[in-house]
Amino acid sequence: MASKHRLSTSKIVHPDKDPVLNEENPFDAMMSRFDRAAELLDLEPGIYKILRNAEKQITVSCPIVMDNGEVEVFTGHRVLYNTSRGPGKGGIRFDMHVTLEEVTALAAWMTWKSAVVNIPFGGAKGGVVCDPLKMSVGELERLTRRYTVGIIQTLGPDSDVPAPDVNTNERVMAWVMDTYSMHVGHTTTAVVTGKPVEMGGSLGRREATGRGCTIVTTDALDHLGMHVSKSTIAVQGFGNVGSTAAMLLEEAGAKIVGISDRDAAFHNAKGINIKQAIEYVKKNKSLKGFKGGDEIQGSELLTLDVDVLLPAALESVITTKNAHDIRAKVVCEGANGPTTAAADSILDEKGVFVIPDILANAGGVTVSYFEWVQDRGGYFWDEKTVNDRLTEIMRRSFADVLALSKSHKGNMRTAAYMLSISRVASVHRLRGIYS
Ligand code: NAD
Repeated sequence: MASKHRLSTSKIVHPDKDPVLNEENPFDAMMSRFDRAAELLDLEPGIYKILRNAEKQITVSCPIVMDNGEVEVFTGHRVLYNTSRGPGKGGIRFDMHVTLEEVTALAAWMTWKSAVVNIPFGGAKGGVVCDPLKMSVGELERLTRRYTVGIIQTLGPDSDVPAPDVNTNERVMAWVMDTYSMHVGHTTTAVVTGKPVEMGGSLGRREATGRGCTIVTTDALDHLGMHVSKSTIAVQGFGNVGSTAAMLLEEAGAKIVGISDRDAAFHNAKGINIKQAIEYVKKNKSLKGFKGGDEIQGSELLTLDVDVLLPAALESVITTKNAHDIRAKVVCEGANGPTTAAADSILDEKGVFVIPDILANAGGVTVSYFEWVQDRGGYFWDEKTVNDRLTEIMRRSFADVLALSKSHKGNMRTAAYMLSISRVASVHRLRGIYS
């Protein structure tokens, strides 16, 4: 019998599009790109409605006893945006600015990111409204465990697999894993990724995002008839992603002529010694005072005359205000949402080749997937195997997105969204609507 909820195939209309898009809001920017890709795909209204809504949103109160004996109640959220292709995957952040809306948008982002690299995960995200810098380790542990119990119904290797995000780390993942394991009665390493290696974490996870950026940058340069060993590169942000990418690109022969962090920015036309910069930051916690180049303004770094610009710090740093001045031929988005939607068209007009965030920084979620696979198999890979498999997935994904961008005569971002949305949509069509 035909379902009364058959998916309509008539042309899409967007009655519930975001009414106001704010250039500085990366989530509005993401949703506007989602809409553009959905329109180009001629996505049927039924599927469009499904993909524009989160599957599950949970909000929990987390009361804990603080070190001073007082009870404090924190609010936590976990959102499963779409799990049609596999368990929800996405980090947990501890931050005062966490809202349900933000967590939902980030969970949507994870859905597209997992799909663009074609790993069998859906998208999820979690957050607790708190200021972790003002909390003791004991308070953070009690909060993590209470939040984990609050959302335990969704957690599980087959349903929802968190990872670290802003202000959470390996130690927090160890507490989540332990709390979950105590409740189910056995050790379940595959319930989180980004764990310490001693308890089921994967080799190569720390470097995975920066390594992924390096792989797609190399492929982009090849595509443009350039070569990484002859290229000049500026990297904004010198944390996990930025410093790893800079180091690996330097190893590949590129000249890193600009680096920056939140405290300082440097330019050296002869090339900055990245190993020295990493050592310096290890000792001094910041690039401030580094002597390997001329100090410049942070904003100048973005407009240096380089082959590749790799923003790996913050969102919304390339906007309508500076996009005209970008001189790089390739922008590799290591950070999430570094380019606003309005700036996209300016970069397009200038012919800048942008490797979009959902592809460029998907190396992290890819090795998270490897960690989950290794935990479930109980068999661990050496670092070379992890890196080789990461390279294979990143290169294949870059080629898939490039092919789609060519066939649709569009840019890489639109192609990446089209590819991921079509993959999620296709699973919904095959599975149908259960009612
Ligand atoms: P991190 O905290 O290790 O490093 C962030 C770096 O950015 C630091 O060096 C910091 O000083 C610098 N920074 C902050 N404000 C700056 C400013 N105004 N100008 C220049 N630099 C500034 O973070 P990370 O893990 O490297 O993440 C960086 C970006 O990549 C974020 O957008 C994150 O969401 C994204 N990302 C990270 C991963 C991952 O696996 N770590 C995965 C996907 C996406």
